[in-house]
Amino acid sequence: MSTGISEVFATLRGKFRGDLLRPVDPQYAEAREIWNAMVARTPGLIARCADVADVQMAVRSAVAADVLTAVRCGGHSLAGFSSCDGGLVLDLSRMREVSVDAKSRRARFAGGSLLGTVDSSTQAKGLVFPSGVVSHTGAGGLVLGGGTGWLSRLFGLSCDNVEGFAMVAADGALVRANARENGELFWALRGGGGNFGVVTEFEVRLHPLSSVLLATSYTSGDDIYNILRDWREFMPEAPDELKWNISLCLAPTKSDVPEKMQGKPAASISLAWFGGPEEGSRIIDHIFSKRGHFARTRKTMSFLELQTMADGDFPHGRRYYAKSGYFSALDDRTIQIMIEALPSIPSPKTQIELAYLGGAVGRVGASETAFGDRSAAFVMNLLADWSDAKDDAANVGWSRNLFNALRPGMKPGVYVNFMSDDEQERVPEAYHERWERIVAVKNHYDPRNFFRLNQNIQAAKSKPTDRQPR
Ligand SMILES: Cc1cc2nc3c(=O)[nH]c(=O)nc-3n(C[C@H](O)[C@H](O)[C@H](O)COP(=O)(O)OP(=O)(O)OC[C@H]3O[C@@H](n4cnc5c(N)ncnc54)[C@H](O)[C@@H]3O)c2cc1C
Repeated sequence: MSTGISEVFATLRGKFRGDLLRPVDPQYAEAREIWNAMVARTPGLIARCADVADVQMAVRSAVAADVLTAVRCGGHSLAGFSSCDGGLVLDLSRMREVSVDAKSRRARFAGGSLLGTVDSSTQAKGLVFPSGVVSHTGAGGLVLGGGTGWLSRLFGLSCDNVEGFAMVAADGALVRANARENGELFWALRGGGGNFGVVTEFEVRLHPLSSVLLATSYTSGDDIYNILRDWREFMPEAPDELKWNISLCLAPTKSDVPEKMQGKPAASISLAWFGGPEEGSRIIDHIFSKRGHFARTRKTMSFLELQTMADGDFPHGRRYYAKSGYFSALDDRTIQIMIEALPSIPSPKTQIELAYLGGAVGRVGASETAFGDRSAAFVMNLLADWSDAKDDAANVGWSRNLFNALRPGMKPGVYVNFMSDDEQERVPEAYHERWERIVAVKNHYDPRNFFRLNQNIQAAKSKPTDRQPR
């Protein structure tokens, strides 16, 4: 144990109501793991907070001892920012209370909540909070970075639906940020990630919704190209109730995929419709009628089923690497580059995920929140996914090569929640014309850059971001 960590442990011991886990403790091995197995770190101490007072105590003691500190909600940071070697992990996983007020359509949830915790509490009242697509993701990191998902076009990003935050700042004070108090912090927390402090509570707006019509299919051969052209032409005029996502991948080995297509390049299509069933069926029929779709499905399902159906596709403990960018238009050259990369994908689980935002996301003004570009509606998330460390170089290399080839067609900007740990130089790009404003907020709340394990906004007097080698 380093001197700093020993100091933190000595300060917290006896007063801390949560769990203090050191490498010698039996629960430590499990507690140190995060979702992405590419990032295996050994913190000196994991402080699993029971309440806000624990968070305040842990922050104050780590600042006093000058100990590198990672904050963890769901542990799904693709870049692995929720752990560190030798330092403190401030783990919020015991803080998952959710309260829903159906009458005012508001919910409050604690800073360690998972999307699934929030969804099950809100759905019990027939309401939804727009968030991400995998229920074991942490709401903390997702909402603070922005939060895109099935409902983005209909109700906006997760951060667009936040009414207020309670945050423990670097001096240990509990600060509220909302439309009436600390307006600049309220602005910055909607897209600025974990840069300003530990958010212990989110107050959010909810919307009535409990079911969805979902259709899925695959296309292959020339119809990968054709469906992408259909998509780019259809989406700018599409109703907000439609969320049409496409993932370019290798067709999976499953019974409804013809054997000769399995393992071959394909476009995986998901059409979620949140409006009246007749209009939804008409749109799905129209899209399906144009190309040779196979393995088609169509069913009405509960919102909870939608929110959990991808959980098993992104398990904990595999190796992941992400690259992301925005396109104003998906031109033919960009489509061609993506399709040409498919036969050489090194892992059958890897996908080029394409989403079209627009809708309610695009109607929020560029300066209303810190969140990155809302004007480039085509978003690409390239997610490499494999299991064996010996394949790291091949998978990371393939992703970087494809990203570099696509980069000239991209608009500057990136969604911080889909960045990897080797992209610190892209952080100013993520906030571009909002950069000086967000730096000013960082300077005010965390001038010494105590909260630096994140897509880091470096304040004027800040410590440099610690990039810990894998
Ligand atoms: C399987 C999977 C699916 C995903 N799906 C989506 C999706 O549909 N839409 C989408 O927008 N994103 C999605 N993401 C990306 C996701 O938004 C980010 O990975 C996000 O950081 C995860 O949040 P977390 O709380 O689990 O992360 P953690 O690893 O716990 O934390 C990530 C970062 O957020 C900070 N942080 C977390 N909680 C707090 C808090 N309470 N206060 C202050 N800082 C905090 C941490 O310090 C860290 O820097 C997905 C990621 C994964 C792995």
